[in-house]
Amino acid sequence: MIKVVKFGGSSLASAEQFKKVGDIIRAEDSRRFVVPSAPGKRFSDDTKVTDMLYACYDLAAKGKNFDEQFEKIKERYLEIIEGLGLDLSLDEQFNIIKACFIGKAGRDYAASRGEFLNGIVMSNYLGYEFIDAADVIFFTDSGEFDAEKTDAAMKERLDGIERAVIPGFYGSMPNDTIKTFSRGGSDITGSIVAAAVGADIYENWTDVSGFLISDPRIIKDPLPIHTITYKELRELSYMGAGVLHEDAIFPVRKAGIPINIKNTNSPMDPGTMIVESTSQKPQFTITGIAGKKGFTVVNIEKDMMNSELGFGRRVLEVFEKNGLSFEHMPSGIDTMSVIVHQSEFEPKEQEVLSGLHRNVHPDSIDIETDLALIAVVGRAMKSNRGTAGRIFSALAHAHVNVKMIDQGSSELNIIIGVSESDFEAAIKSIYEIFVIHQL
Ligand code: ASP
Repeated sequence: MIKVVKFGGSSLASAEQFKKVGDIIRAEDSRRFVVPSAPGKRFSDDTKVTDMLYACYDLAAKGKNFDEQFEKIKERYLEIIEGLGLDLSLDEQFNIIKACFIGKAGRDYAASRGEFLNGIVMSNYLGYEFIDAADVIFFTDSGEFDAEKTDAAMKERLDGIERAVIPGFYGSMPNDTIKTFSRGGSDITGSIVAAAVGADIYENWTDVSGFLISDPRIIKDPLPIHTITYKELRELSYMGAGVLHEDAIFPVRKAGIPINIKNTNSPMDPGTMIVESTSQKPQFTITGIAGKKGFTVVNIEKDMMNSELGFGRRVLEVFEKNGLSFEHMPSGIDTMSVIVHQSEFEPKEQEVLSGLHRNVHPDSIDIETDLALIAVVGRAMKSNRGTAGRIFSALAHAHVNVKMIDQGSSELNIIIGVSESDFEAAIKSIYEIFVIHQL
């Protein structure tokens, strides 16, 4: 049995946390490949090492003195090394990094050193081999992740290796410079390693016991999700359920490897299992509820729209030309609405309006802002009758006006648009009807 284990920043923020991680890894012989993040926050007002590195490098890039900030980063590692009682010096590494900062090696290089150094500390602490991610994770010239090249190199490098530490978050470009994934990207590295070694399971250790049915900032103590499918997770992550990086599921999903989200501070909790499919009956009709604020609806009206060939294409062409991707597009016989991210739409607003007038000659265009979208997701919705009915009666009881409804053809989710001011009340009412009332 092979497990790939990824530990997030808060799991590695201090020597104390490192010790918990060490205990977890040693508890099971199968935990052979370890992917660490950079040290995260030790307390809520603390700064993540990644952010310290960005800030420090920004000074260096402007030619300013960055000694003080650099020393603070050194101290973070020193505190961990001393706390673990390791016989390890990172002085040489820090000298190289400083020289590269002065030589303006780039922001990605700077940020990646958080994981790089933590990987060295981790490999020293565990007695596992250290493998630099720059040698096994690759990006193309245009900055896209190069899955094929990476998989081949990773397989070759890890072949015959019993135990190794591979730092998360970064890889290298064809010109040998360092490039990182987007923030939180160590989750992706863990997934890539798991796929390459054909792991039985990818354990992603963080500071919460998995996904919750809803956002704890809105629902008090929401229940955890024990099992979720990749498809469900994708819908929920897209709508803001943020325990795992959105792109982390792709490599393992292709390889049919489940992900187990676990809590470093409470390792006995089962956490959430993310699987391709399951015969396990979910406890509730819905698996989760997530949502986001900050959408705008562009309502376009034109008599006889439905018989005008190519109308939809010409509408969307305007959005495409302005670099705007749309979220949803509910339509009526003579109306079509396009839902977009408000922050992306605002700067392009007038170009879009004039483009629409030119392209489709509408009778009227009306713009509505401050819309929130809520996704009610669940694999069990397909086999349960009346789900939509229950959602809408719950919303009606909570006096929430529904502005838009969209049900995906897979019957896995129902998306509801409400005014931002109704967002919290809407989520609470849906949680109540499907979870509280069903307990
Ligand atoms: N250290 C990086 C970040 O803070 C990557 C990660 O932790 O996954 O975003």
